Amino acid sequence: MAEIVIKNLRKEFGAFTAVQSSSFTIRDGEFFMLLGPSGCGKTTTLRMIAGLELPTSGEIWLDGEEVSQKPASQRDIAFVFQMFALYPHMNVRRNISYPLVSQGMKRAQVKAKVAEVARILGIESILDKPVSGLSGGDRQRVALGRAIVRDPKAFMMDEPLGALDTEFREHMAEELRALHDRMKATTVYVTHDQLEAMQMGDKIVVMNHGVIEQFGTPQEIYDKPATLFVAEFIGSPPMNFLRFQGAVTAGQNQITLGEATHAVPVQHDAAHGPLVFGVRPEHIRLSDTAPYRGRTIAVEYLGTTQIVTLTTPHGDIKARISSSDPAPRPGDAVGLEFLAPTVTLFDQKTGRALR
Ligand code: ATP
Repeated sequence: MAEIVIKNLRKEFGAFTAVQSSSFTIRDGEFFMLLGPSGCGKTTTLRMIAGLELPTSGEIWLDGEEVSQKPASQRDIAFVFQMFALYPHMNVRRNISYPLVSQGMKRAQVKAKVAEVARILGIESILDKPVSGLSGGDRQRVALGRAIVRDPKAFMMDEPLGALDTEFREHMAEELRALHDRMKATTVYVTHDQLEAMQMGDKIVVMNHGVIEQFGTPQEIYDKPATLFVAEFIGSPPMNFLRFQGAVTAGQNQITLGEATHAVPVQHDAAHGPLVFGVRPEHIRLSDTAPYRGRTIAVEYLGTTQIVTLTTPHGDIKARISSSDPAPRPGDAVGLEFLAPTVTLFDQKTGRALR
């Protein structure tokens, strides 16, 4: 097990910079997500930590040792890929024991280790079956077994559930998280799926164009997005943006949109010019008396909640209301209240949240 400290890590491929100077710390035992859209540099970051790619500059500290120039074989990190490559001609037991046998471990010890791993993963009954006939889930478990059997310092996982259909994927995500809670091994996990990152991660790094946009717990990232990019990337539907020209000063606690004033928590920053008022769909309350007005465009019924799409003087927005609340009809004018918890003001020029 290990803490991983990344300092000013950078990767260039010729003239192209895939990862800009990145710094973050992964604590011992953490389930750590690298999240972002395709091409943002998350796989490159993971590969540098594992030793499959050498950084252009920067440091990687693993368990107190600087390893950035060490080959992968000397880092004691297990890599779990999206397409789990099992040895098709071997049975489950031999697939799992292979890393131990190739290390020269004694037979009795190998047997005990494999039995322990099979118990953890709940696959004792298939140990002597050939891998060729296994279901997708069992193949996944065998591949995990092969990764955890040698007690590596840390696990690197690159979209391990990416090839699975939605329902099964959710099940495997829960299983993986439960396995982590039992083993408490430092795990770095790459995904472009924000729900997966929120569901499984202790911490999340959100990347875009090789740059770290934000680093924090799922709740910090959801409730206090640092940038417009993060606010839009996390949440479904994403945060609403109302765009306006205005000015804020440090210590200001409200802004005026149209005729109405709204609470905003800006303690330290100041900005003027194009600003963006961000509010999550579930923090909009429809109220006949609220002075800020919108007009209903559509209502989508989703079972426990419903999504009301509205047009306002500052852009279209979506409100999530309970299904037990009366929904307006298309064309109805409604008043809108914006509730404090996640209201965020952004400077449109820099894309950064004003705090
Ligand atoms: P994806 O989910 O699509 O894999 P990613 O966020 O993991 O995306 P990376 O695979 O890290 O992204 O790639 C980041 C950028 O670096 C991409 O634009 C990619 O084309 C580029 N890149 C990655 N590896 C190389 C390479 N060996 N040579 C040149 N460019 C590369």
